[in-house]
Amino acid sequence: MMDTLQSYLEGSWRAGRDEGVPVADAVTGQLVARVSSEGLDLAAAVAYARHTGLAALGELTFPQRAAALKAVAQTLQERRQELYDLSARAGATRRDAAVDVDGGIGTALVYASLARKNLPDHTLIVEDDPIPLGKGGTFAGRHLLTTPRGIALEINAFNFPVWGMLEKLAPALLAGVPTIVKPATPTAYIAAHAVRIIADALPPGAIQLVAGRIPGLFDLLGGQDHIGFTGSAATAARLRSDPAVTRRSARFNAEADSLNCSVLGPDAIPGQPEFDLFADALVTEMTVKAGQKCTAIRRAFVPVQLIDAVSEAVEARLARVVVGAPGVPGVTMGALVGLAQRDDVRAAVARLAAAGSIVWGDPAKVEVVGADAERGAFLSPLLLRADDTGRTEPHEVEAFGPVSTLLPYRDLEQLHELIARGEGSLAGSVVSHDRDFVRQVVLGAAAYHGRILVLDRDSAGESTGHGTPMPQLVHGGPGRAGGGEEEAGLRAVYAHLQRTAIQGHPATLDTIISKE
Ligand code: NAP
Repeated sequence: MMDTLQSYLEGSWRAGRDEGVPVADAVTGQLVARVSSEGLDLAAAVAYARHTGLAALGELTFPQRAAALKAVAQTLQERRQELYDLSARAGATRRDAAVDVDGGIGTALVYASLARKNLPDHTLIVEDDPIPLGKGGTFAGRHLLTTPRGIALEINAFNFPVWGMLEKLAPALLAGVPTIVKPATPTAYIAAHAVRIIADALPPGAIQLVAGRIPGLFDLLGGQDHIGFTGSAATAARLRSDPAVTRRSARFNAEADSLNCSVLGPDAIPGQPEFDLFADALVTEMTVKAGQKCTAIRRAFVPVQLIDAVSEAVEARLARVVVGAPGVPGVTMGALVGLAQRDDVRAAVARLAAAGSIVWGDPAKVEVVGADAERGAFLSPLLLRADDTGRTEPHEVEAFGPVSTLLPYRDLEQLHELIARGEGSLAGSVVSHDRDFVRQVVLGAAAYHGRILVLDRDSAGESTGHGTPMPQLVHGGPGRAGGGEEEAGLRAVYAHLQRTAIQGHPATLDTIISKE
């Protein structure tokens, strides 16, 4: 049993003063840690970031920060087994842990490489050549990107304690902004261990971690600070309305839940490779991390004439899923993060089932290998089908578990209307070998998506899949997905910097931007 989980503040590890919130092992139900921030001096932590962290990072140029980020990734790489072991306690199989741990390390490496190759050997970025503003050539303008005098507060969801932390840390670190991480309570012990591994690879104050609640911390934030939030739409709405954001204009980026879709083209009849690609991808998205992925496919749109065949194909694949304790031979799907999460998913499934029917799986019962089905947070994969396209639930209710709903569509017009009902998603897929169909779907659906994957026989071999955000590309989405852009290559670094237009004589502007 672990003691109360410690927070990493002002360069040292400190425990909260009360019993805290108990966090149970997702597989056995045993206590893993207690999480408390009671009595911790968060104001001192913010001050430490603003002074020590900002100064230390400010001394590094972009390539030096990129080197620090690369060192972070390499240190984690060497000790990733420790993180896999802890992830298993949160219900993650080795494949799930790889998505979080290796995915996070890969993300940090991509950012480090993008920065090394593309950012100047300097602490500021000049975005453009002089823009003439007068006829005589004595007056021009340029845009500068400089480090704000603030901090990045990152608030993460429980499902990706490592990747979620690193994908936010990377752009902030490259921008020279010190980070305070607030991991989600159910998996804070994994995030804290990752910070233990990387802390010494970073300059003092570049990273701190608060395990537990952060009362009063928003009161200390303002216009120079950046808040990066990942979690539910409800929490995003609450935090977005804090005066730190509404009055003092702290930058606020939200990644929330979304009802992501996958679309099967009418050309993809049984026997075509795309038919199988669609069914395989759906089952992958339902079972990796037991469906606890913000990008997982919740709505599977299928031509009405193919829905029976698709249902059969998906059911046949789900029949091969083995639910059980991570690490036990043969197990292909682990547990949800905890019993409370399972209760939430069951409640959401009940609402979804009212709009149609459950065609595979029983929310109340699942056969489990290597663990107790009730003590652990196990749940069967659940495939639903909603033939009545007038129902709203499949487009509104997110069951954050191994759950997806098959929905029929008649034609493109109806398909677009149904896609739009999700009100904005992180990721969508179109699975078809008909390029004209793909074009019409993508152009119609783009406004509702942060990312769209086109999957067919030609790209499948190298495809990174529906659910995997790529650090080079946008991760985020409009509307219900939070309206943010968390990853987007170097754009995510620029989002942490202040853009200032400077105007004057071109030679004066040259002096301002010179390194000395
Ligand atoms: P959540 O309950 O909204 O919590 C998210 C984070 O906010 C946690 O760290 C939580 O801390 C913190 N929090 C809650 N209330 C707060 C407050 N008043 N002040 C400051 N922080 C506060 O979401 P979750 O259950 O962890 O995550 C599941 C949801 O996240 C799903 O809906 C999923 O779709 C979404 N998600 C989105 C993405 C994405 O990239 N878009 C990625 C992963 C997950 P505590 O844990 O201590 O309460």
